[in-house]
Amino acid sequence: MLPRKYLFPGVIEMNYQAGRRLGVNVYLIDGGSEWILIDVGYLDTVEETIELIRRMDFSFAACKMLIATHADADHVQGIARAKELLKTKVAAHPATVEPLETGDGVLTFAQIKAQGIDLPMPPCKVDILLRDGDVITVGSRKLTVWHTPGHTEGQLAFKMGNLLFCGDNIYKDSCVGVIDAHHGSNIPDFIRSLKRILADDSEFLLPSHGPCFRRDNAIIQKAIDRLSQYQYMADFGTCAVHWPLLDEWEKDVCSGRLPDFSRG
Ligand SMILES: [Zn+2]
Repeated sequence: MLPRKYLFPGVIEMNYQAGRRLGVNVYLIDGGSEWILIDVGYLDTVEETIELIRRMDFSFAACKMLIATHADADHVQGIARAKELLKTKVAAHPATVEPLETGDGVLTFAQIKAQGIDLPMPPCKVDILLRDGDVITVGSRKLTVWHTPGHTEGQLAFKMGNLLFCGDNIYKDSCVGVIDAHHGSNIPDFIRSLKRILADDSEFLLPSHGPCFRRDNAIIQKAIDRLSQYQYMADFGTCAVHWPLLDEWEKDVCSGRLPDFSRG
């Protein structure tokens, strides 16, 4: 049997467990009599991940469900395969059902034509809908579901005791999950989700990418401040809510004023 490397009581993360970079963080929640996975990662790592789980002596029959934090391909490209291998159920937020069940290349980021990215995205049936406030019991452990839209409409986070599995909401360097209109990013929603995380009392944040870290409100506030600016910047295209420069310009245009270069 492979020794289990617990990050926290009841929590194994599969990259740390494998001792190599598999991709997205894959959390195994061990509740004793049963277990679940939060995300599964790319298709080409699923069999290795499941083999590691088998070698750690977890019974496949005790896998209660596979959770998709959202439908981005790097998180769930392998979920249909994992579901088949483990003969278990898949759980996601209602807004994640369409991209997951259709495998839509644009909504899941499997296809980014302009960058030559074109990955297969096997569709996967969602069996269990998770909504804000739902409680998932995994043996002796309980996870409270948080709906934290922003990165995508169906983004989920999970509170378990003093831990917050924060998905793509915030990473250790204060970066956040990609903001892109194509998969439903919404900056005002994102700010609300970050403020909710800021107001929470969780002691450790366990994101979907990179290291887990101790809560530091400065990290979260920095992201809130940045995203607050993004709302008014053309850089974010249709994800921005307003572009004040155009108001000034429109006033000049409509009043027939030309730019006054003497004022710098
Ligand atoms: Zn991600």
